[in-house]
Amino acid sequence: MDFSVPEELDEIRAAVRELCSQYPGEYWRALEPDRYPEEFVRALTEHGWLAALIPEEYGGAGLSLTAASVILEEVNASGCNAGACHAQMYIMGTILRHGSEEQKRGYLPKIASGELRLQAFGVTEPTVGSDTTRIQTTAERVDGGYVVRGQKIWTSRALHSDLMLLLARTTPLEQVERRTEGLSTFVVDMRAAQDAGTMTIRPIRTLMNHATTEIFLDGVEVPADALVGEEGKGFRYILDGMNAERILIAAECIGDGRWFVGKAASYASERVVFGKPIGANQGVQFPIARAHAAIEAADLMRYKAAWLFEEGAPCGAEANTAKLLASEASWAAANACLDTHGGFGFAEEYDVERKFRETRLYTVAPISNNLPAVARLKAASERSSASCSIPRPMKTTRERRSLSGHSGRCSGGWTTCWTPFSTSGPAVPTFSRPLTRSTSSPRACNSIVSQMPKAVQSSGSSKIRHSARTSCPCAGESS
Ligand SMILES: Cc1cc2nc3c(=O)[nH]c(=O)nc-3n(C[C@H](O)[C@H](O)[C@H](O)COP(=O)(O)OP(=O)(O)OC[C@H]3O[C@@H](n4cnc5c(N)ncnc54)[C@H](O)[C@@H]3O)c2cc1C
Repeated sequence: MDFSVPEELDEIRAAVRELCSQYPGEYWRALEPDRYPEEFVRALTEHGWLAALIPEEYGGAGLSLTAASVILEEVNASGCNAGACHAQMYIMGTILRHGSEEQKRGYLPKIASGELRLQAFGVTEPTVGSDTTRIQTTAERVDGGYVVRGQKIWTSRALHSDLMLLLARTTPLEQVERRTEGLSTFVVDMRAAQDAGTMTIRPIRTLMNHATTEIFLDGVEVPADALVGEEGKGFRYILDGMNAERILIAAECIGDGRWFVGKAASYASERVVFGKPIGANQGVQFPIARAHAAIEAADLMRYKAAWLFEEGAPCGAEANTAKLLASEASWAAANACLDTHGGFGFAEEYDVERKFRETRLYTVAPISNNLPAVARLKAASERSSASCSIPRPMKTTRERRSLSGHSGRCSGGWTTCWTPFSTSGPAVPTFSRPLTRSTSSPRACNSIVSQMPKAVQSSGSSKIRHSARTSCPCAGESS
């Protein structure tokens, strides 16, 4: 097992961090409560970061999911908010994997260049919530295409997107054998629909600045060639994309977590109360150190999930686990950071309260942590009660890549849907050029120390410094 980090990832981190340094806390604060970070998103687009997953032949960078996750992690670790634009990176995956060549050639180069934004994802509806297969929005077949009627809620970035990937029911629920069938995905031209007066978008003010909206679809005319893949298979396509989404969101949470830990640690070493830095008190150290440990653990799961994804292997359980662990870790770090700052944690100028609000989202969206947790418990109990305990032979990469789709049926309740469908996605050859995790290096050890709270490395508190050294498994080797 090789845990070393390839140089390319360090280069990506450095470049993203450099770009993000031009968008400090003041920039984000000035946007509150609800202005879109247009300049920041434009800069990320122009530097090609949001086209990381688009293959080179379509104008993108053709990077691996691991590399893409590092980009978003670094955005959040820099104090910025990738939530403003992360979907531009991954929604296009549905077109890439399931779209026609004409759709790929038509959309992907323009998405890569930023000429078109595809960063609105219309799945959730007000009446059915997490129970996606019961959505009420319909796309009715007419001459030349479809007419869409219904309502979406929480469609983020809709007012800053040209296109929306829409999930709608094309066959009534009563006429399908399984409720996962009869749903279809469309690439909808939002500008045209708004101009025609058939689409109304209303912003929803939320806890944090997230540009989310509700959308009313009152007879939106969609041409036949806007259908992605086969009619009726849309639910599967959406789930295919969710593994990548979960891994990327996990990485953002890890970035947030690192920001909180770093911020808490440096404040703990600077703030002197009762004649010593507050970080000299174990009561202050422990929650920060625990959050740091949780982030590191979640990070391992994120890399494992990304690796499986790149191998074309089932990764639904790992992707969801990574998102769950990372969102809980970042939330723990957020609380530790706020507590460390005491009253100042509530003051805008420290950015702690802003990041605190931003990271809170990810235990609830894009999927509530309850749902994959329930699914995993169910899957685990099914595994443990299965008669065969002989390990299944590993498939070769080639065999895995040849998996053409979902092996599973959505047999019963919604809980089973999340795991079987999202674990057996098709091959992902298009996310080419995986960055290999190469040579081993003692840097792996050093980086553990360097990522510990800054106070641990630099403060005058010998107690904190001591705990950092001892927490490194290779303490004897590190300088
Ligand atoms: C800021 C924001 C941005 C979003 N952006 C998008 C977007 O761009 N596109 C999009 O399609 N959606 C988006 N969402 C929607 C998001 O994915 C949903 O909010 C989320 O999936 C939960 O759905 P819900 O809010 O309807 O909760 P509900 O489904 O009503 O659930 C409410 C609570 O009950 C729990 N619950 C429900 N059923 C069970 C069960 N069987 N067992 C245990 N617990 C259960 C849930 O876990 C949750 O905690 C966004 C949401 C927010 C808040």
